[in-house]
Amino acid sequence: MSALRDTGLFKRDVYCPECGAEIKIQDGVEQVCSSCSTRYSYYPEKRIVSQLVFDRHNLDSFVYELNETIVIGRDSQGFVNLHYEDFDSIREYPNIRTHNISDPHARVRVEKVSMSREVNGSKELITKLKCSLEDALSKNGTCVNDQKLRAKETRELKNNDTIILAPNCDRYVKITYKEKFAG
Ligand SMILES: [Zn+2]
Repeated sequence: MSALRDTGLFKRDVYCPECGAEIKIQDGVEQVCSSCSTRYSYYPEKRIVSQLVFDRHNLDSFVYELNETIVIGRDSQGFVNLHYEDFDSIREYPNIRTHNISDPHARVRVEKVSMSREVNGSKELITKLKCSLEDALSKNGTCVNDQKLRAKETRELKNNDTIILAPNCDRYVKITYKEKFAG
């Protein structure tokens, strides 16, 4: 076998995907198995994390790291919360109180994606989350970068996007979407 194969190997895998022989890994460089001559590429992995940074009205901020689809709503006391879609368990309370937010108000859909890129002639594998914001038929609306979403409209989020829930209300909620390398 001499076809170049993209194995998507990570650092912990040090065996030939064809014959199982132990192999020496060199970041981003095409590899040839000394036992069976299979050629393949090895990509070091880098992970980008996605965060929702809640602004607690200039006091400080609350950071939530996304890993799956989450709903932003509030409880009967008016406290904003983050919960999962399928069952009602609360994930986090950012400690923000407002009756201007609906329950549910908005949904952040999360999808895991990976891609390879070349840096200085070496390839690396990037894994990240593709996140999009959907207005969940909220009473007071949702804005991304000052553009109001229509009911149920979905917008893909990019680093540093500003999300405002209930933009025309006194007790609006401001969230910044952040992407950065883990580690
Ligand atoms: Zn081999």
